[in-house]
Amino acid sequence: MRHFEWKDKSAYTYGLHGTPSSYILEERLCALEGAQQCLLVPSGLAAIATVALALLHVGDEVLIPDNAYGPNKALAEGELAHWGIRHRFYDPMNPADLALKISSQTRLVWLEAAGSVTLEFPNLYEQVRLCKAAGVSCALDNTWGAGLAFQPFNLTVGANSLPLAVDISVHALTKYPSGGGDVLMGSITTVNPALHMRLKLCHMRLGLGVAANDVEMVLRSLPTLALRYAAHDECTRALALWSLKRVEFAQVLHPALPESPGHCDWLTMSQGRLGTAAGLFSVIFKPDYSQAQVDAFCDALQLFKIGYSWGGPISLVMPYELSSMRQNWPQHLQNGTLVRFSIGLETVADLQADLAQALEKLSS
Ligand SMILES: *Cc1c(COP(=O)(O)O)cnc(C)c1O
Repeated sequence: MRHFEWKDKSAYTYGLHGTPSSYILEERLCALEGAQQCLLVPSGLAAIATVALALLHVGDEVLIPDNAYGPNKALAEGELAHWGIRHRFYDPMNPADLALKISSQTRLVWLEAAGSVTLEFPNLYEQVRLCKAAGVSCALDNTWGAGLAFQPFNLTVGANSLPLAVDISVHALTKYPSGGGDVLMGSITTVNPALHMRLKLCHMRLGLGVAANDVEMVLRSLPTLALRYAAHDECTRALALWSLKRVEFAQVLHPALPESPGHCDWLTMSQGRLGTAAGLFSVIFKPDYSQAQVDAFCDALQLFKIGYSWGGPISLVMPYELSSMRQNWPQHLQNGTLVRFSIGLETVADLQADLAQALEKLSS
């Protein structure tokens, strides 16, 4: 034991230091995202929290996009603030706003593409460029992209652009890599050994190990990730296109739709390939529909279950009260109740028929 070194994975010393199973999953996630190092944590949110705790100290400031995954904002408001770590929200669709808000106290900038409820696709390349120019670490919540839609450590915007890399990518393995809606896990990938070691020591001191049986489930799902992601994508695009024609909706949000905020940036990043737009789309109901009517629509759906998650085989629906989620009401969003759909692996025709019957109940 005296000669064992757990930090470089050359030996197995204790469960919290990693196990032979976790080492294998870490390696495969590195291959998926084009990373060099990986840490596994018990949830996607634990990945976000570990990055914050490892990088931020009293007096530091973290910048978070205003459309970020809600619990990331709640972590800053409810926990980091107690420890003297300040946060500001920036407009994800306006790089000038990010540039303005990066200050001498800024130590970390969160990025998310696409936003997890409103699905705006930001100018990720420009955001990373701004962070690099200011010497500030940037961490991407890459759950939506899943390592398939774009390469977070090799971002380009055309043949002649200099490739840029985020410093950290976090991933809720709970979603697409698990694929079953039955495992909670997160990952933190990097390409810098010193940064990884800082995260790894924080991770170990906090006791954030993962169970080998959970790792085994993700390992088993990972080989079908690309096929599932492409199937979710294809079905979702078909339903989003169909939704555009429905009179009940004021707006349909999906980055592959030319009308959707950030479409051009998504196109640049993904070259429009199928299998690059995940399985989420949102609709904003016309304001004449009350929240109770929208709730009744969600309840009337038969195949869609009500739930927050995504990436599993079963389609899910969730209404959101956007006004309580944003510091500023974004000009690119219509007024009305927003409903997000997470498309599973059912057939398009079945899901479309289900949406149609629930919408008909709404108008009758
Ligand atoms: C679900 C999700 C997370 C958190 O993952 P959990 O494993 O549920 O904690 C983080 N970011 C995004 C974008 C998510 O959708």
